[in-house]
Amino acid sequence: MKVLKFGGSSVANPENIIKIKNIISTYEDHIILVVSALGGVTDLLLKAGALASSQDQSYKEVLISLEERHLTTIKELLPVTAQSRVLSKVKSEFNILETLLEGAYFIGEITPKLSDKIVSYGELLSSYIISEYLITEHLDAEFKDSRDIIVTHKLNGKNMVNFTSTNANCVDYFKSSNKKITVCPGFIATSEEGVTTTLGRGGSDYTAAIYAAAINADILEIWTDVSGMYTANPKMVKQAKAMPHISYEEAMELSHFGAKVLYPPTIQPVLSKGISIVIKNTFSPNEEGTLITKSKNEKGKTVRGISHIGHIALLSLEGPGMVGIPGISKRFFEVLSLADISVVLITQASSEHSICVGISADDVEHAVHIVNDAFEIEIERGRIKQVIPEKDLAIVALVGDNMKSHQGLSGKMFSTLGKNNVNIRVIAQGASERNISCIIDEKDVKKALNALHEEFFEENIKQLNLFVMGVGNVGAKFLEQIRSQRKFLKENLKLNIRVIGISNSRTMYFDEKGINLNDWQEKLAQGQKADKEKFLELVNTVNLRNSIFVDNTASEDVSTSYSEYLGNSISVVTCNKIACSSSYENYSHLKSLARTYNAPFLFETNVGAGLPIIDTLKHLIASGDKIIRIKAVLSGSLNFVFNNFNEETTFHDVVKQAQEEGYTEPNPKIDLSGVDVMRKILILARESGNILDISDIENKSFLPEVSLNTNNNDDFFASLIQHEPHFQSLFSSAKNANSRLKYVAQFDEGKASVGLQEIPKGHDFYTLEGSDNIVLFYTERYPNQPLIIKGAGAGADVTASGIFADIIRIGNF
Ligand code: ADP
Ligand code: ASP
Ligand code: MG
Repeated sequence: MKVLKFGGSSVANPENIIKIKNIISTYEDHIILVVSALGGVTDLLLKAGALASSQDQSYKEVLISLEERHLTTIKELLPVTAQSRVLSKVKSEFNILETLLEGAYFIGEITPKLSDKIVSYGELLSSYIISEYLITEHLDAEFKDSRDIIVTHKLNGKNMVNFTSTNANCVDYFKSSNKKITVCPGFIATSEEGVTTTLGRGGSDYTAAIYAAAINADILEIWTDVSGMYTANPKMVKQAKAMPHISYEEAMELSHFGAKVLYPPTIQPVLSKGISIVIKNTFSPNEEGTLITKSKNEKGKTVRGISHIGHIALLSLEGPGMVGIPGISKRFFEVLSLADISVVLITQASSEHSICVGISADDVEHAVHIVNDAFEIEIERGRIKQVIPEKDLAIVALVGDNMKSHQGLSGKMFSTLGKNNVNIRVIAQGASERNISCIIDEKDVKKALNALHEEFFEENIKQLNLFVMGVGNVGAKFLEQIRSQRKFLKENLKLNIRVIGISNSRTMYFDEKGINLNDWQEKLAQGQKADKEKFLELVNTVNLRNSIFVDNTASEDVSTSYSEYLGNSISVVTCNKIACSSSYENYSHLKSLARTYNAPFLFETNVGAGLPIIDTLKHLIASGDKIIRIKAVLSGSLNFVFNNFNEETTFHDVVKQAQEEGYTEPNPKIDLSGVDVMRKILILARESGNILDISDIENKSFLPEVSLNTNNNDDFFASLIQHEPHFQSLFSSAKNANSRLKYVAQFDEGKASVGLQEIPKGHDFYTLEGSDNIVLFYTERYPNQPLIIKGAGAGADVTASGIFADIIRIGNF
């Protein structure tokens, strides 16, 4: 014999019930078919009860819609000729239900007994309707009320199954029944006094397990809406996978810690008989599902699954009076237990100064009250503090049989959570060492589950979530590069890059599931009004793991928000030089935030666009080298200008062209005055370990005073025309000396300077083409022949690819 249980969503509507018929039609064996109430009905019955007992007439509307739903199900499933008898039976059951609810309404109260009676109609009706449907489909089926079989008795105030009489009833009934299929309601039972009782929310799984154990079934099949027990709740973690096989203990641990797919008590009865459980998907019956047996997964993975329980509150009993006094914890737990408050997690510090328990948030007010009452005398004497509850918490647990023999799992768990700024309130490790659990803020649950899943299950596929501010020249190219490289990165570097938020100066747009990069322009245009503060707030609200803020603007205002991102463990990647060339104090504060919060702060494109200059510098220093001197041509824009400027052109026209081709900052004076190069050499000097400010850099500007003092682009360009002879004389002087003009930045013995120089033939800088940059690092290891980095140092494309490279560095971090 086999026992099959179909849950609420599997019986939610006629279409699904037909699926069940198709599944069971293929079975040769005798079947006990346990069914739940039609999906959502239990909740609605409880709601009707609550409304009625608070004397709210709207319980009637709930009742009417429930009746409608059941009658429609009958009409859609049964042939017309078979309908009337079943319809009238169901209608008469609804009349009784109405009377029960009226009772609650008039008394203004609902007792546990009455509540059980009311909710029992969910399973009673569904099983009756399904049995009638199977009969009309010519299956050899019958209906049997579980209340005739499963008997409960009270133990410490709780309804527990009386297995002696229940098992005897099972054997009596099922062994003598000659029907192939017996349809039974799940969830409901009878007390020894003959009153309807229930087995707890999710209890239909338990009903099926009780039957399976009593009749020694070949297998217990739990049919639900997912394809087995997953590595994490598939509704929270998209990447979760069904596990083909797990042990009873692992299943129990996972379900105890919130994997709702199996009601925790279900395993006990079948475990003692060694009956296997299989979890299958009604909507995808060909999938393998999960097999649960007694064999341990000896060679299996250490961590098998991650689960969570939401809606948790923490209760801490603390005080000097607790140390060394026996019996305090006993009293604490006794008080909770007598009030029927179940304790999900316990920790006690070894100092014995405090005991901390996790309980359902629903119980917290009551718990605080009774615990404070119980310890009234100690509290009055100041030996114990009043218990203070903390709410809005959740438990997250890693589960696996083999975890006990492995070190480092908890370290990995907590560092993963830490990196993602998930604050851990309490840590507990089960004595079985089959789980490590911790309590975190409820708002962080989704991020925590996904980050842990990525760490323990996803073969190193790492998801990076980007928030991109600035989608002009560089930003647009950057998004395009991500769009075309995404697939490659996923397959080859195991990085899954998603853009979650974008903003320009006018609008911003967020999509938590990842913005489609084929039409981001339209989405952004229709987005909400841009707002730097709101952007940050949204990044924190979506609260995703591995979050990176990307600044593609040149805005000082945007650069002031880095500290807030880093302080929330959100990495920052920027091509905006303002922050790193601001005061040394601000620069070092940002670097230290990045270290403290484990959030990389990368700005490779601040110097030489996509060229790996800062990265090389970092590697030199990390490996013990020392920078002695830096000589560099660092302005792609100035290079472009001086490479194209000669006696046949005008300085003004060349600068204009450089601006139009995107080689200069929006304001070209920043490049031509040397400010941009000053910022770059400052950053290199700082990254080499020197404390320096922009005012320490010598700038011998080649621009006439008038040009330097202009306040807008038009005046600036006009001044260039006016001083053309000055520029021509710079050119001819260099030409006469058989040299070329290059704008050079230097750092030597702690001093930095920038300025125009005549570079003679044969020098490394002489042949520098187009917008190329070059850096010579003279170090202890490269004292005479410098380490040279050379290549295109300006342009939207190479800058975008430099930002991209920083993102990948973070991915590999
Ligand atoms: P039924 O109504 O069939 O009894 P439940 O809603 O009680 O179904 O249980 C199935 C649900 O359990 C799934 O839809 C899923 O959201 C949830 N769940 C939580 N954790 C897990 C997990 N680790 N594996 C599979 N499902 C899980
Ligand atoms: N219908 C009950 C509930 O929703 C029992 C079950 O479905 O297992 O809790
Ligand atoms: Mg269930």
